[in-house]
Amino acid sequence: MPGYFIRQLSCHNSVMGTGFRLTGVILWGLLGLGCLFGSVAPAGAAPPAGKLLVAATIVPLGDFCQQIGRDLVQVQVLIPPGASPHLFEPAPSVMARASQARVFVYVGAGLEPWAARLLRSRGSKNLVVVEAAQGMPLLGLNQQDHHHEAAGAQGHTGKQAEQAGAHATHLAGNPHIWLDPVIAQEIADKIARALIQADPDHRAQYEANLKDFQAKLAALDQEIKQHAQTWRLRDYVSFHPSFAYFARRYNLHEVGTIEAAPGREPTPRHLKNLVAAIRRYGIKVVFAEPQLNPRVAEVIAQEAGVKVLRLDPMGGAPPYGSDYVQLMRANLAALDEALR
Ligand SMILES: [Zn+2]
Repeated sequence: MPGYFIRQLSCHNSVMGTGFRLTGVILWGLLGLGCLFGSVAPAGAAPPAGKLLVAATIVPLGDFCQQIGRDLVQVQVLIPPGASPHLFEPAPSVMARASQARVFVYVGAGLEPWAARLLRSRGSKNLVVVEAAQGMPLLGLNQQDHHHEAAGAQGHTGKQAEQAGAHATHLAGNPHIWLDPVIAQEIADKIARALIQADPDHRAQYEANLKDFQAKLAALDQEIKQHAQTWRLRDYVSFHPSFAYFARRYNLHEVGTIEAAPGREPTPRHLKNLVAAIRRYGIKVVFAEPQLNPRVAEVIAQEAGVKVLRLDPMGGAPPYGSDYVQLMRANLAALDEALR
């Protein structure tokens, strides 16, 4: 897959597309990292002639752009695989390289505060911006807390999160919308509209590619539904509430989260509550996320006598690489093991 670039599509293409000037901001800078998981353009290279430059903040959005743009686009992802988007701050050089993109795609909902800064400060007449979360009702943390036997997400909002500092997350609602394959189809539609706005000559191709990709996402949704019917357990413990939209779609119940906020250690009391909830619900597995340190998950699993498996909200790592559908299949396999 090509390198990673960003463009943003928006529900308000006609409005947003004209207001921004992202001079020099998009991140060609992560090319070295991009090479780890895709056929990214060589560092410092100019984009291939005739290709539309697209920058996306996270690997799944980069994949969506690639699926819809195919050989018409050069896609660069700004947040490298393995990094938590909650903890990521781009280097100035990365921001500078991002400026070449014609389309910039980000999640929004507070996931990439630096992207908003970048758009505000740079703007671009020729930049089409897509905020994936725009116009979408977000899961709020208060709502999630009601479902939690073992509180853990409370730190994502309110006073505790504020005290946790700049990296407190989900303050604007849960941003992990891309992990619901049905919502992913809406995001794909926004991206396609942005690509068409930036490159109207190829409208027919973008529309055809969009249709193909949405069909793949619909098939993925059906596949997950079929698996979900075989799950005996509906309760799970996550590392942080990244699978909240997925859980809502497939009727799973997150009974607790390990970290109150990414990178923030849980208290001994919280750990004790989690272990108690794991026993009470007969949970067999604690999930870790590859972007966050699994140590605490391992401690809890040992204490509760359960296994640690991995749910990956981001992708970009072997064996699935940057392919979203393959990423979700790997997550599905972990869920099968945990819940059957
Ligand atoms: Zn999060």
